[in-house]
Amino acid sequence: MSADRPAIRLRGLTKSFGAGNAVDGVDLDVVEGEFFSMLGPSGSGKTTVLRLIAGFEQPTSGTVSLQGKDVTDRAPFDRDVNTVFQDYALFPHMTVLDNVAYGLRVRGVGRRERHERARAALDTVRLGGFGDRKPGQLSGGQRQRVALARATVVQPKVLLLDEPLGALDLKLREQMQVELKELQRELGITFIFVTHDQEEALTLSDRIAVFNEGRIEQLGTPAEIYDHPVSPFVAAFVGTSNVFSDELSLRVLGRGGIHSVRPEKMTVERLESPLSGDRSATGVLAEVIYLGSSTRLIVDLDAGMRVVVQEQNDARRVGDEERGARVRVAWSDRDTVVVVADR
Ligand code: ATP
Repeated sequence: MSADRPAIRLRGLTKSFGAGNAVDGVDLDVVEGEFFSMLGPSGSGKTTVLRLIAGFEQPTSGTVSLQGKDVTDRAPFDRDVNTVFQDYALFPHMTVLDNVAYGLRVRGVGRRERHERARAALDTVRLGGFGDRKPGQLSGGQRQRVALARATVVQPKVLLLDEPLGALDLKLREQMQVELKELQRELGITFIFVTHDQEEALTLSDRIAVFNEGRIEQLGTPAEIYDHPVSPFVAAFVGTSNVFSDELSLRVLGRGGIHSVRPEKMTVERLESPLSGDRSATGVLAEVIYLGSSTRLIVDLDAGMRVVVQEQNDARRVGDEERGARVRVAWSDRDTVVVVADR
């Protein structure tokens, strides 16, 4: 691992499909062995960046370097990267083993060796006994693992993953997140992971780039992005956040600028109970949503803003029957994040 020779280096990467820039001057270094996520809403340019790295698209301007070599003008097959797509793109008429061995075959690896390596790759994703099946005889999660085995069998330096868990139900998705992380550690490959699911990005990544309108709005570790969002967009997009606009900050916090407070940093209490934080605002308890181990409480503040509060059930101070009642939301000043400082 070397800082001046990152696994991926993007400089001034721009892609226009006509109207406006889908990707707009992206500079990025991804370190070798990193689990790196590109997170952003639909249409923010994540997939296009991935396709530019893979070579499926040509940039309008800017460069893509892999392991210190400028590959901007190289064809996809001539780049040391591999892609796992959301729909897996498995060949339906081939067996699972042949699907996994395919990349080795086109690279001219002999039958015996490629079957050996394909079997080993299937073992890694815990599908050792499934080589003879056709993709149609597998579950969604199993197909997804075959796609991973197929992409990793050729031992690429970089693996690009475009919403690879998007087609799975929640339970399987959570299970596959863990497996994906383990697989990445085991193989030591650089992962570039595209998702619009902030929780998935926070759970899996070493670092995250938050995309908005073709640009990187914030780059950092999950904790940096969650605890110190640098813009209202990041604060609102990553996790749930109560964002106080300039005007509301003046009214509720007594100072200008844009501030945010995470739901789990706030409590809802009765007006007559002692104040538990050094900041508070009154309002009406609009909703109480039971989430299992915690509860989400929605309060419409008198100041004209709706806040979301999330409390552990054993720490709750108001009951469900208080829906519609006047309450106080309290929090501490140190949990108030300055998103944009007062000018
Ligand atoms: P999603 O999560 O929905 O896949 P994304 O963040 O990956 O979104 P992109 O797919 O990169 O976003 O798209 C960025 C912008 O570029 C969008 O406005 C999209 O409509 C546009 N775009 C992408 N591919 C093409 C194309 N081949 N032709 C024209 N416009 C395109």
